[in-house]
Formats: sequence, structure tokens, C-alpha cells
Amino acid sequence: MKNNDIEIRWYSEFVHSKYKLGIVFPDSLNNAISNLAVHTLYRILSAEFYTDIFSKDKLTGLRTGLKIQDFDFLFFSIDYEPNYLDAIQILLKSGIEPLREKRNRPILIGGGAAISSNPFPLLPFFDLLCIGEAEAILPQIISDLESFSPENFKERPWAVTDEKRTARRVFLSDLNYSNSFIAFYSPTATFKMNLVEVSRSCPNKCRFCLLSYNHLPPRWLPIRRYEEMIKEFPEGTDIGLVGGSVLDHPEIEGILDLSKKFKTINPSSIKINTNSVQMLEKLRKSGLNSVTIAPETGSETLRKVINKDIKNEEILEFIKILNEIKFKNLKLYLMIGLPFETIYDIIETNDFLRKTRELFKGSIEVTFSIFVPKPHTPFQYFPLLSKKEFNEKMNKIKIPPGIKAHFGNYRGATKQLLFSRAGEELGNAIYENITNKKPLETLIDIESILYDEETAKRMPFNLIDSGVNIDFLKGEINKSKSGKTTPRCVPSKCNLCGICNQGPNNSRKV
Ligand code: SF4
Repeated sequence: MKNNDIEIRWYSEFVHSKYKLGIVFPDSLNNAISNLAVHTLYRILSAEFYTDIFSKDKLTGLRTGLKIQDFDFLFFSIDYEPNYLDAIQILLKSGIEPLREKRNRPILIGGGAAISSNPFPLLPFFDLLCIGEAEAILPQIISDLESFSPENFKERPWAVTDEKRTARRVFLSDLNYSNSFIAFYSPTATFKMNLVEVSRSCPNKCRFCLLSYNHLPPRWLPIRRYEEMIKEFPEGTDIGLVGGSVLDHPEIEGILDLSKKFKTINPSSIKINTNSVQMLEKLRKSGLNSVTIAPETGSETLRKVINKDIKNEEILEFIKILNEIKFKNLKLYLMIGLPFETIYDIIETNDFLRKTRELFKGSIEVTFSIFVPKPHTPFQYFPLLSKKEFNEKMNKIKIPPGIKAHFGNYRGATKQLLFSRAGEELGNAIYENITNKKPLETLIDIESILYDEETAKRMPFNLIDSGVNIDFLKGEINKSKSGKTTPRCVPSKCNLCGICNQGPNNSRKV
């Protein structure tokens, strides 16, 4: 089947049902096709319902060609906060009444990593917002679809509605029930790979990282479930292993052996570990050319602040090994504006980049992203660095010749933080801004939301209980000030942050 020149091979049967369900990813079609949350939703919903997929640039269904406004329920999946604005624009563009109070249909349901962290800017528009993982929540929504009413969800811990503004994040306790693997394959999209999520969260708990903190505890996909998942993927295609710290998977050797039918095996992230030489050699033999690592900074002091306890010496040794195994491309992720960062940390990063260039002969790309203090992480109340500080720090960065560098955009970081922190007043202000052309800054106090710690402590995202206890988060800030690190997660033994062993109320055993 051809759609906008993108060929799609569906892996599932097409079901006809009384209701039409749309999955909406408010970003480009190419990004929708490579987003595992879209595939997970599709696998679960399309097993019982007539389901189609929409994106920001494709408002007719990918599978049926029907218009988005002809669907009864729209399930929005949002991982990146600035896409809240795209979601509102999709509604306006397709003639769907955006304001919940004025709309009868379609019913709008939202979920995803960004919504689970701060659903409130979308409250004026959505009927139901979901805090947690799709596999744990969707069966409860599906069973109530016939007689859908936000009222029906007031006892559900994970639900946010106009009437219920506190919620607890729910998650799958056993990844044997995971549906996070692709539901269709596109040999002609920019990103053409079979994806399987092999881990959730990350045991290292970097103090800035929402993907780690808002998905705790770390969990691994059992190898038998991996074997079942990859059965439907065609031989000779590429496989992408998605998750944090993929090579730390306790059954990674077996997973790589089972993946021999694929052309290239691509792990989404590789932890810097000089003991993983054998695995790196296997990946290189499979045809993998590029490795992406995230030292975050070239300063060892600052790395301790963020709970990444690894020395420059070890990272450079790892880079030397990558060069010896003859990887062709190295990608590095670094950050600017982390709490307690000084100009000296940036000078150390410059030195680290110079040494990296000397050790690695292939191409090197470095991306500097701007630190955005995300809710539910230990650094949640820190202010964003000011534009002045940002400019001063940018002026100190020296990229050695032969390294290609990309830099985060300051305006983009402010937008991300605004949507991560603000409440429903932001949704209302955006609606005013779009419909009555009133400038956003006259409608809400953007400066306080971005730069004032006390304002951040009062914002409604604090009504969402991520499961990590607040004393643990406070303790992490104190440790970061004195450069102390916290050990990796061992879910069977530890109850450090309070999320493991909380009993049936905080997790869902499917
Ligand atoms: S309780 Fe311990 S093992 Fe479980 S998520 Fe928290 S720190 Fe990690």
C-alpha cells in the first residue's frame, strides 16, 4: 500500500467495528512511522477496532484514507512537550472544535511521555488524559468505550479529567505483556527499521533525565517475548533495539544471537563500558557503522553532579576501542546549562573533544542540547539558564577542526520548559493567542514559569505522583551539590526511591 510515497506493510489484520478510532501523532509522518508509542497503540487498538493513524502533515488516515474528523475517538500520543501546540493546530486545521466544553465528538484521549509528566496545558481541550504506560491503561479505556464518559474514570488512579486533577502514574510490572514493537514496516520511509523496545527506564538515574525517572523502575524485555515479537519481521531487514542502556540487558548475548536473521543490529544507545568489547565487535560485524554515546559533559565534576559516575579516562579508552574495531561514525551527546556548571567545566569539555578527535579517526558529530529542568526529576525546580549565561557559555565552546557540531536552540528550550511546567492557563492562553491574536506574554507570566524556583514548586505538575518519593528527589539534590553519586537500581533488592515493592496499587500486573 502506498501513502504519500511511503510504502507500508501492515503486520496485522484489519478489523471493522462500530467505532472508528484514530491514533494521532502531532509531528511529521516520518517521525510517526518511527515512533514506537504509535505502533504500541496501533497493536492494542487495532486488535478490536477499526483503527487508523494520523500525523501533523497527514490528516487523512494512513490505512483507510478517511478524514480525521470522521473518527469517533482520537488517541493522541505526545512524547515531546512543544507538540502540544501542534495537537491544537491539528484540531483547528481539521475543523474539529478544540474546546472540550463546546465539543460533542470526537472524544479526545491523550497519553505519552510528555502528557504523563504534565498533562495540564491540554486540559481545556481533552476529555481524558492518561498518566502512565499504554499497556496498563488502554484495556480499561477499551472496556468503557461503549458508554464513554470522563465520569467513569474518576476512580482510576491514572486518569486526569476536568473533574479529577490528581493522578498516579501506572506502569507494566512485567514486560512479558509489552506490545512495544512495530506494527507495520516501511521500506521507503527515511527511518526504515524494525524496532523493538528491549528496556524501559534506565538503572543509572541521571538526575536530569525524564525518560529514566518517569519510567522507573528499570525493566527488561524477557528474551522469549523478544523471540515472539521478531517472528513477523522479514529476514534481511534491519533491527533497532530501543531503550536506555540496551547493552546492559541481562540477556543481551541471547538477543544478539536471535537477531542473526537481520542485516544490521542497531542499539538506540550504548552505555560507555570498556567491558563490552565482544558485543561491540558483534554489532560491528552485523554492519553497524555508527555508535552514539552520551558523556553529557567533558567535566568529571559535573558528571558527578548529574549522577554519571564515569571518568574521562574510561570514556576515552572506550572511544579508542571503537576506533580499533573500526566504527566509522561516532556521535556524542553533550549538554549545556546543567546545574552548578561553570566556565571551567566548559573548558574541560573543549579539552575532552580535542582528545576525542585525536583518538577516533572516523567522522565525529557532537550535539549540545540545552538543559531543561523536567518535572519529576531531582532537578525539576531549577531555573532554566538565562539567555545571557547561555550566550556567554556558547562563546567559550571550542569545537576542534574535523568535528561537526549541532547546538540546541534557546527559544526551543524555553518552549519545551513552558509546556513541561505550565498548567491549563497555558492551554487557554494559546487558544486566545491563535483565535484572537493576543500576544502570549500578555496572557501568562512566562518569565516566572521559566526562571522562578518558587513558582515551579506551585505548578500543577506537582499534582502528578510519579511514584518516586519526594524525599528521595530532595536527597538527590543535596547529593548533587556535594558531588555524591547514587548507586544503580537493583529492583529485586532496593527500595531507595520508593517505587519498587509498593504493592498492587501502584503497579498493574496484566
Ligand atoms: S526502588 Fe531502587 S531499584 Fe527500584 S526504581 Fe527506585 S532506586 Fe531503582
